[in-house]
Amino acid sequence: MFNKILVANRGEIALRVIRACRELGINSLAVYSEADEQSLHTHAANEAICIGPAPSDQSYLKRDRILSAAEIANVDAIHPGYGFLSENAEFAEQCETCGIKFIGPKANAIRLMGDKATARETVKKSKVPTVPGSDGPIENENEALNVAQKIGFPVIIKAVAGGGGKGMRVAHNAVAFAKEFTTARNEAEKAFGNGAVYIEKFIEEPRHIEVQIMADSYGNVVHLGERDCSVQRRHQKVIEEAPSPFATSSMRDAMGKAAVNAARAVKYENAGTVEFLVDKNGNFYFIEMNTRIQVEHPVTEEITGLDLVQLQILIASGEKLPFKQSDIKFSKHALECRICAEDPERNFMPSAGMVDFFHMPGGRGVRVDSHVYSGYRIPPNYDSMIGKLIVVADNREKAIAKMNRALGECEIRGIKSNVEFLRKITNDPYFQSGDVTTKFIEDFFERNKNRQLKE
Ligand code: ADP
Repeated sequence: MFNKILVANRGEIALRVIRACRELGINSLAVYSEADEQSLHTHAANEAICIGPAPSDQSYLKRDRILSAAEIANVDAIHPGYGFLSENAEFAEQCETCGIKFIGPKANAIRLMGDKATARETVKKSKVPTVPGSDGPIENENEALNVAQKIGFPVIIKAVAGGGGKGMRVAHNAVAFAKEFTTARNEAEKAFGNGAVYIEKFIEEPRHIEVQIMADSYGNVVHLGERDCSVQRRHQKVIEEAPSPFATSSMRDAMGKAAVNAARAVKYENAGTVEFLVDKNGNFYFIEMNTRIQVEHPVTEEITGLDLVQLQILIASGEKLPFKQSDIKFSKHALECRICAEDPERNFMPSAGMVDFFHMPGGRGVRVDSHVYSGYRIPPNYDSMIGKLIVVADNREKAIAKMNRALGECEIRGIKSNVEFLRKITNDPYFQSGDVTTKFIEDFFERNKNRQLKE
């Protein structure tokens, strides 16, 4: 087992990993930017090293500085969390070269899944259903239009290097296509330094359902059930739950098997997520695989009773998966709300600054993963998520009631947050009925447009 792990991240996920290390009796080393000196992760770890100024490209993305910190502190492994360097194949490779275990898959698997067009082609060979679309990236506009016409409008143009819902444009007809194609390419170039795009059929009003997988280095792969992440704003998840209110047990089995096949196709190791879109008839299509731990992993933890981050560490240290597929049992219903420092009344504009007062709910079945405390100053440099509120109860109805109660107990002063917005969603009859597609928030605004969000 490892003696010391460097946590190459910040915020709630850094804290989550540090907590897992403590429980396993492993020392942790935090790295932090100048803006994060007062962040909880910096103080919770056994040791901490400053790796540079606030902007991520001068700190959390600086591979050489993180590796120097690792060498100075003599760590034997690095946990990358999510975002930042977590899906950077060169970084995973550099860790290996330095004799430091990267807690995640091998560089080759990251590379194959990191390019979304290649990922599609790779899993297709393993009989995983994919959304109808182009064979690989397309550069030429005329050729792209031909493909779009062949698969039929509407289509979605997506960045090969995409992530975080960026670089995606929908075209409803041939006239709009040229403009959207150019915009998508420009956006992708700007966001990812790679303008390559591919085309998929735009699935109307799908559900986003993803499957958690876990694989060891001996070829054992299991799935830990699905998460429904259909509640999204601008293609970014807002509320997640497990199990999906839409999935039947035969769907769960079929998606689970497809996810395991996708993982096997790239000799996957460690925790990963295979994402699918599901149409109203229950047909599911692979869209991408995230080769890291995800923000929403706690809902899976709550219905399986497993600690996914501890499992990541055990597997990386060379242990075998301690269970078989048939040992995994699902019980109860879990929901997660992403609490963000943003102003829903001003188009969700980020709201950084001093948090004068921060009180989070408690009680049975309530979990809060957050790095924020009263008197903490949220730096403007990073993601606006300031915590996750997770609840678990016997069934979905009770979980929603618990979430509603818990959101009502949140007190955040000094900055704006989306807590009231989240609470309104939990009060929405469509959400409560489980009739939720990726268009839910758009429809929710439409239904409530004459009402003050503040009410
Ligand atoms: P990212 O890597 O940026 O998160 P994804 O490929 O995971 O991008 O897609 C994010 C979201 O965008 C999906 O959950 C879904 O809401 C929407 N989306 C992506 N592809 C399609 C598609 N072919 N049809 C309809 N919606 C899509």
